Amino acid sequence: MYADIVIPVARGPFTYRVEEAEASRIRRGMGIEVRVGARKRYMGIVWRVHTCRPAFSTKPAGRLMGDGPLLTPAQMELWEWVADYYMCTLGDVMRFAMPAALKPAGLTEEEFRRGEYRPASVRYVKLGPAAADERMLHAALEGLRRAKAQYAALVAFCAAFPDGGVGGGALPRSALAVAAPVLNKLVDKGIFTLFDREVPLSGEGTLDVSRVPLAALSPAQERALEEVRNGFASQDCVLLHGVTGSGKTELYMYLIADALARGRSVLYMMPEIAMTSQLVARIRSVFGNRVTLYHSKLGDRRRAEVYRRLLGSQGGELVLGVRSAVFLPLPAAELIIVDEEHDQSYKQAEPAPRYNARDCAVWMARRWGAKCLLASATPSIESYVNATGGKYALVTLAERYGEGRLPHIVVSDSARAFRRGERRLHFDKALLDRMVAALDDGRQVMLFQNRRGFAPWVECPQCGWVAHCPRCSVTLTYHKLGDRLKCHMCGYSSSLPAGCPRCGTPTPKLMGFGTEKVEEEVAALFPSARILRLDRDTATSPARYERIVTDFERGAADVLVGTQMVTKGFDFPDLGLVGILNADNLLNYPDFRASERAYQTMTQVAGRAGRAAAGGEVVIQTMQPDHPVVRQVQTLDYEGMVRTQLAERSVFGYPPYGKLVVVSLRYRDERLLGQAAAWVAARMRSVFGERVYGPHAPVVEKVGGESYLEILLKVENGRSPARAKEALAGILEEVARHEEYKRVFVFCDVDPQ
Ligand code: ADP
Ligand code: ZN
Ligand code: ZN
Repeated sequence: MYADIVIPVARGPFTYRVEEAEASRIRRGMGIEVRVGARKRYMGIVWRVHTCRPAFSTKPAGRLMGDGPLLTPAQMELWEWVADYYMCTLGDVMRFAMPAALKPAGLTEEEFRRGEYRPASVRYVKLGPAAADERMLHAALEGLRRAKAQYAALVAFCAAFPDGGVGGGALPRSALAVAAPVLNKLVDKGIFTLFDREVPLSGEGTLDVSRVPLAALSPAQERALEEVRNGFASQDCVLLHGVTGSGKTELYMYLIADALARGRSVLYMMPEIAMTSQLVARIRSVFGNRVTLYHSKLGDRRRAEVYRRLLGSQGGELVLGVRSAVFLPLPAAELIIVDEEHDQSYKQAEPAPRYNARDCAVWMARRWGAKCLLASATPSIESYVNATGGKYALVTLAERYGEGRLPHIVVSDSARAFRRGERRLHFDKALLDRMVAALDDGRQVMLFQNRRGFAPWVECPQCGWVAHCPRCSVTLTYHKLGDRLKCHMCGYSSSLPAGCPRCGTPTPKLMGFGTEKVEEEVAALFPSARILRLDRDTATSPARYERIVTDFERGAADVLVGTQMVTKGFDFPDLGLVGILNADNLLNYPDFRASERAYQTMTQVAGRAGRAAAGGEVVIQTMQPDHPVVRQVQTLDYEGMVRTQLAERSVFGYPPYGKLVVVSLRYRDERLLGQAAAWVAARMRSVFGERVYGPHAPVVEKVGGESYLEILLKVENGRSPARAKEALAGILEEVARHEEYKRVFVFCDVDPQ
């Protein structure tokens, strides 16, 4: 008997011989110990058991681990789909889809054993074979007359049970006040037996869902909920397009409660950044201990516990997680909610599997008859087209809940303000005046700038020299805190040179502005304002993040300055004004999705304002006040944005008019990299002709000392992406066998974001 076994490496599955002793127990999805090469041991997953003897000689697999499969059939099917669709191996999927603590690996037997997952357990004491019934127990007591301590221990144990413990009653070891040597003597005599019992995990819900406090819905929300339910009656997937503050979360609560009440499970996915926020607290306040959290900041052990518990569950689970949560076992799955479905963080860019958890969710719903709810105030164009085209049902919730009105959006022409002298530091008069008014009114202000640090680049005023990372093709950002230049790609840092390294001119100029500088400028302009900053430099841990958010929420600060981190899931009732300091940063990014992204980011940031009756305003500072996207944000014209973008994309065959696959090549030596890329592109052209673009350097062409080149393949709608990928995979195999080019690292990114 043979087994194809998946191990967490980029190759495989590998075929092993199954030992006699394990043959009767072996099943698909079980963990099994295998050796790779001379020494390395892995836990692999039994993928297929068969009897076809391979042409090569096989090694014996080791022992099976645990009593049952570690993967459900549904998970195995998802892994296969991901590996196939995103062009990677099952081993790549395994590396990410399973918590590290569940898949031990090691060079020695001992290292391997140490890595093995053991559930937390408590030691218990019960009566042993020498005290199996009442008569034997009495005899044991008689025999201990002269061993006072042992006698006392046995009596103390028996006193805890009406039948003296002969019925099998057990006590935690810690509840029995007995010294270890005394206990050990009793165990040696067979009077006591020790055993371990697994500690029940928190999150194991006992909460009665029929009694959870759900908010009464507004008529508009009622209607939307009804439409979502109707949508699910005919479709697997519903797109809920609800403006910011419309109360989408309250609708989810109803759907969740329904599912849980039927003993079914729900997966509720949100972007990483929102995981420690107010939103989680809100869901917890309704579903209490029924909520199981799953995200990257959980310890590895905790993630393994969550996984194990779900694997053994019968259903009725509510899992709140980030993208990797799609890989959890979810018994009796009925509903998957993808909140902020447009968010880029659902796509894993690096390393493989380069999957999109939103698209996995849609696939799972299709495959397993569960329902998938995609929701956003600014849906991705792809999802919106799917919804208007009839693939998904579309539900629109166009008004805010309660007193809140959508904020009034003002566009400020920064170039004009500058010319007229109506700008102080990086603030146009239009924004400054409103800040003064809001702060005077005792309302809060939020300022968004999508760069962190103080100055995103440093330049010589004389010769134009710019400080670059020696390992990456990006400028170094100056951070005032610590007085360092830092690379945001690879973490390289150096001190600020006293003079220009090229021409010697002293004091290089600090150019541009990041959140650190914004904070400093606000302090200079509003000396009495209390300011908080939220970015990766201040929110260095979940606790610090939480602290900043709650401080702002309870009014301990007047101004919050932040990066992307402030765009999601926040609800601050006193927030009266939002300032977007530099929209041009967002608009000018060289990517076909830049306009869509800029619209989404600006709308989401703007959506934090005016959630209470007092209303709110937003000021967008830009050099391009007439840019169509700026206008569309201002007039809340989502459909208009989609129309403009679709018109552009149809010309170039970009999604949703075609599928993209990017072939990326990475290597230290640029010359060999260039040759390899040209060779791959030529091979691709021989198969796909005009549909191949490049090779070209990506926006950041060098990272950590390695250069990148990309080749783009467009597969227009109507052609089979599966067949194209198969041909592409063939070409990649040729590279892997090529005399010279096999040293170059080549990978595919399907549906790049
Ligand atoms: P969205 O996610 O659509 O931006 P939220 O779900 O965060 O909106 O709702 C915005 C605010 O309105 C929240 O503070 C929420 O508690 C409140 N809210 C929404 N619907 C209701 C309701 N039916 N009853 C009470 N409060 C509601
Ligand atoms: Zn110089
Ligand atoms: Zn770098």
